[in-house]
Amino acid sequence: MPECLNRVSVLFRFPITAFGNDNFLINRENMVEIISPFKIIAKDGKTSARAGLLYTKHGVIETPVFMPVATQASVKALTDEDLRGVKTQCILSNTYHLYLRPGVDLLAKMGGLHNFMRWDGGILTDSGGFQVHSLSHLRKITEDGVWFKSHHDGSKHFFTPENVIEYESKIGSDIWTCLDVLIPANAKHADARKALDVTKRWARRAAAKYHAITPQAIKPAGSGFEVSHSLLFGIIQGAIFPDLREEAAKDMSELPLHGFCIGGLSVGETREEMNLALAHTIPHLPAAKPRYLMGLGTPQEMLDCIERGVDMFDCVWPTRVARNGQVMTSNGKINIKNVAHRAEDKPLDETCDCFVCQKYSRAYLSHLFRAGELTSHRLLSAHNIRFLTRLMERARAAIKAGAFSELKKEIEAHYV
Ligand SMILES: [Zn+2]
Repeated sequence: MPECLNRVSVLFRFPITAFGNDNFLINRENMVEIISPFKIIAKDGKTSARAGLLYTKHGVIETPVFMPVATQASVKALTDEDLRGVKTQCILSNTYHLYLRPGVDLLAKMGGLHNFMRWDGGILTDSGGFQVHSLSHLRKITEDGVWFKSHHDGSKHFFTPENVIEYESKIGSDIWTCLDVLIPANAKHADARKALDVTKRWARRAAAKYHAITPQAIKPAGSGFEVSHSLLFGIIQGAIFPDLREEAAKDMSELPLHGFCIGGLSVGETREEMNLALAHTIPHLPAAKPRYLMGLGTPQEMLDCIERGVDMFDCVWPTRVARNGQVMTSNGKINIKNVAHRAEDKPLDETCDCFVCQKYSRAYLSHLFRAGELTSHRLLSAHNIRFLTRLMERARAAIKAGAFSELKKEIEAHYV
């Protein structure tokens, strides 16, 4: 076995009977073998932070990574060229939204989401569990799947673990996620227990469907991997209850998945509750696979989680606040609406290398925003995303240099 496989691959063995009647890739005594194409290249000596490379069919993603959210096949106000310009490696899109509009069959006809939006970087799709919970007018969970009504026109739809995998296949994203059941942060233990039990069973069905349509063909190449198909991540739920989080992490670790989403956090719980949930999740996940914390993306939150061993993040926050004039800088947040910036002939952030900071003054951006010019949404969003992709670059460099804690202290001085 090549050296890189010894270091980073994970071998999963489980009986075929655990996955129902679907036919999928099996070898050696009814076992499935998968490789997670993730390579840890550095670990911080003082914390659990790690830097890695996740190989996908659309290139290598350096971790820790921030993924801007392209809910409806667009990161609001930005084009694919803008995203490249601010060093985006991977975006997140939503199966729920794309299924309802423009429809997954149309996307398949257009050659998949990459071709449709002319984006050649990574795409991760959320399975829709979160949106069904948060947007739908009606939600009824059965053992088979979830009924919901479209938030556009009230039409009724049914998601199952299997059809969501089919939809993600039509979207053609690089990383697919399993359908899960999300419950509120203040849910009772008994309700969280029920939701987790369903999520666990659905993850098995999603994995079976995925393997039925995706023969594994990940090969070692050089010091990394060659990946020609989409990857599958499971979603870990369990609300804020330590026993359920631990059970969810252990259970998901046994499935043939390439990585893990930590879901159900950043939904209204306190920072202490989130950290407690993470403390009962991460130690029970295999170290050699990527970990993605869903829906979290402020600088201090991301550094907090990187310190605990999280590798991937997504959040609408940087673009949403940009549309309200809020800008992140190396000296903390500013609001471009503030009168102090009206005549400032300097960039948003003198240390930033983004195309906005290279060219435009705060005075001009302040004017655009006050005048209601749409260009301000584009320029402030681009800068905010670059602030976070640059923060992740700095985090990777600090991990490699064994100086992650120093970076965290520096950022915390400006972002609490
Ligand atoms: Zn900038």
